[in-house]
Amino acid sequence: MPRAIRPKASEGRMGVGPLIPPLAESQRPLRQQVFELVRAAGLIPRVQVAKDLGVSPASVTTITSELIETGLIEEVAAPREGDAGRGRPAVALGVRADAHRVAGMKLSDREHTAVIVDFAGNLIADDVIPRRPGPMSVTEILDAIEDLLNRVCTKAGMARADLSAVGIGVPGFVDSAEGMVLWSSVLADRAVPLAARAGARLGLPVTIDNDANLVALAELWFGAGRSLSDFAVVTIEHGVGMGFVMNHRIYRGAQRVGMELGHTKVQLDGALCRCGQRGCLEAYIADYALAREATTALNWGHKEGQSIAVLLESLYDHAKAGNATAKSIFRRAGRYLAVGLSNVINLFDPALIILSGERMRYDYLYAAETLAEMESLVIATGRPRPPIEIHAWGDLLWAHGAAALALSAVSEAILSGQVLGVAAE
Ligand SMILES: [Zn+2]
Repeated sequence: MPRAIRPKASEGRMGVGPLIPPLAESQRPLRQQVFELVRAAGLIPRVQVAKDLGVSPASVTTITSELIETGLIEEVAAPREGDAGRGRPAVALGVRADAHRVAGMKLSDREHTAVIVDFAGNLIADDVIPRRPGPMSVTEILDAIEDLLNRVCTKAGMARADLSAVGIGVPGFVDSAEGMVLWSSVLADRAVPLAARAGARLGLPVTIDNDANLVALAELWFGAGRSLSDFAVVTIEHGVGMGFVMNHRIYRGAQRVGMELGHTKVQLDGALCRCGQRGCLEAYIADYALAREATTALNWGHKEGQSIAVLLESLYDHAKAGNATAKSIFRRAGRYLAVGLSNVINLFDPALIILSGERMRYDYLYAAETLAEMESLVIATGRPRPPIEIHAWGDLLWAHGAAALALSAVSEAILSGQVLGVAAE
């Protein structure tokens, strides 16, 4: 009997409707809801918190007193709007910025970037170290992480121990919940428990995530995605990634390794991808794909030590100067990008697609013809297609996303009464 078919009433009561575990994502404890509302609002009066959450002012007073006592939020004299309030000065609630400080880091093929932010998300310091491309050993990557963290702490005028948590973004297949890097272009090994290893090395709680998820998180926390419930961020750099926000949360999939837009197939038996398979989208539009085309088509020998960035810059200059072959390389990549974006729209119907990453300076990629091509591949529903925005904000934004991940980890641990753990080395 198919499981979807209900047994007869005589066979007992099994209930109907989704089986949602208590205190799952969809039923966050009221303390957490209050804290997150205050954090998102900036400043908000208690009475508004009660209204927005649909709970009694008395329960909001109890919870906010607790949160103030824990040091997470504070009372602030709020500027009055018009002459609405008379008598007592208006008091609003806000996150206590100096309650915690966290670091966010982005590891990439070209450089590693770090930021330190306070508990209200304000930037305190940032730093970047360049690196030679290619996979690293776990020890090398831990050395790089520690080195960068020490440097950015010095810039911020604080000790490492003053941090409450660290968030790290890594390209590749990453299981954020388990802290595992299953595969990454920056790591020589597979299945590395990077969160635990980095935590043990730094003596701090470490959370990791796929770097494209962190760009989506940065947009959700600080950018265009704050007011949107469903949107996509597509990153084009050394690889192609996607972060998808569904109902105001990052969507990761059942095993937390979904949303690999870069490895969706756009050509059977097509170009070879870094993942080892053929015909992946990123094998047509990522850095290394364009560089591969450039060296072949323009008959450029790849000079020893010449970086992909320099090669691409040169290709771009040739295209701008009217070189037909150089233009055709970008045009072809743009057509494949159109296929990828139309698939995202047809599958998810997002409110917005943000294209992010260094490569977005190459406007050939998203020229009018690319968007027209995409339009022709989107199903004809009679509804307008979502807007496409270009955000070429660079690695600092990605590191901010990693900091948001760390801020979430800190507040969720405190609000649920847990202690953020540090693994022993
Ligand atoms: Zn692939």
